[in-house]
Amino acid sequence: MKITIFGTGYVGLVTGACLADVGHHVLCMDVDQAKIGKLKNGQIPIYEPGLDSIVKHTVEAGRLSFTTDTEEAVGHGTLQFIAVGTPPDEDGSADLQYVTAVARSIGEFMDDYKVVVDKSTVPVGTGDKVGAAVRAQLDRRGLELDFDVVSNPEFLKEGAAINDFMKPDRIVVGTDSERAAELLREVYYPFNRSHDRMIFMDLRSAELTKYAANSMLATKISFMNEIANLAERLGADIEAVRRGIGSDPRIGYHFIYPGCGYGGSCFPKDVQALARTASDCGYEARLLNAVEAVNYAQKHVLFDKISHYFGGDLKGRVVAIWGLAFKPNTDDMREASARTLMEDLWKAGATVQAFDPEAMEETQRIYGDQDGLTLCGTKEQALKGADVLAICTEWKEFRSPDFESVASALREPVVFDGRNLYEPDMLERYGLIYYAIGRGRSQ
Ligand code: NAD
Repeated sequence: MKITIFGTGYVGLVTGACLADVGHHVLCMDVDQAKIGKLKNGQIPIYEPGLDSIVKHTVEAGRLSFTTDTEEAVGHGTLQFIAVGTPPDEDGSADLQYVTAVARSIGEFMDDYKVVVDKSTVPVGTGDKVGAAVRAQLDRRGLELDFDVVSNPEFLKEGAAINDFMKPDRIVVGTDSERAAELLREVYYPFNRSHDRMIFMDLRSAELTKYAANSMLATKISFMNEIANLAERLGADIEAVRRGIGSDPRIGYHFIYPGCGYGGSCFPKDVQALARTASDCGYEARLLNAVEAVNYAQKHVLFDKISHYFGGDLKGRVVAIWGLAFKPNTDDMREASARTLMEDLWKAGATVQAFDPEAMEETQRIYGDQDGLTLCGTKEQALKGADVLAICTEWKEFRSPDFESVASALREPVVFDGRNLYEPDMLERYGLIYYAIGRGRSQ
């Protein structure tokens, strides 16, 4: 099938590459000329494991191509996927300007039936706005063309995006059009063979499903962080508590890891946007607001611990940070906990020596020549001359470092672990003072 994808970010590029991989003919459009330039030169603008080889071979096979030309993009696919960003507006609501811009372009250039498939995470009711924007352009052109709007939210996880797209837990499709539903069935047939993973529903329910899923996951994290903060004060070990509750199948082990807060491009903005949607319809989403408030505080927890350790005076202190991306296997630093920590440290007069296996370029892009930031080529270099170590991302290569070298490289042998990577007793045996989340030394 001929498919157009608007937006070549984490979602758009992965979607385009995976759809091309199974045989569809995909044209990816982006307004970012630099991104499209790179893609045309065979460079992948983001780090996502496995993506480069799929892009390479689908481009070579002539099934995946890139453009900045809107008219060409609209002309290509019967299915027009919208995968552009929906960042938070100042009031927490989702900023829909990019989504509606694409909808207008589709109305401006379409000349036959199209299915507009919204993959971006958008508030309930956006499908109607997308339809209205397309219709307004058609009216302006004096055309009466058929089109359908479908909500098809994306559930992939950065860092495991290819596998998630290729073997989805579910494919949610929100539409009341049988014609559009049939086309979506055909698009996703290759991903739906072992058992039926497609869940059809009305458009508004599909839009809400995405927010409900992310908010539920964020709730699990904030809940565990709250219990971890309590465990710390009560002299309990959150890791024992985690195993104890996870063994109940009604709770399960998934996604109940405490830490220094959730980040990324989705959970923070989606929880806020859903709370905002709730207040717009006169409902106070108390739980969602609490999830957000707990997470906000949690992102400052490592700083509070470091500051407390140094008696509130961090001037001139040097903190090594391992992990800058918001989670492992990505270079994405949107809303990353490491950013909160670094910014808190700079405000307090400390400096940072940081290392991340993939996010160094992104850190450079965001912070440039920020005073108080030294980007280091290895995790060992980050330790040299540092007072203490803080860990913000659970990359595999941080799991079993040479603890003796860590202890001897630091001026003070102290580790502040925001991801609970280590056993407190083991670190103490190496002479390291260990603070973690809900375990280790208490303050
Ligand atoms: P992103 O910021 O990485 O990419 C968005 C891209 O859209 C950018 O390259 C931008 O230049 C492009 N764009 C903006 N306006 C455009 C236009 N008019 N035409 C064409 N391209 C345009 O965003 P992302 O992380 O891929 O997320 C996209 C959407 O998917 C968001 O709504 C997000 O909430 C949702 N989502 C993201 C993830 C994730 O893990 N990143 C997972 C599921 C859903």
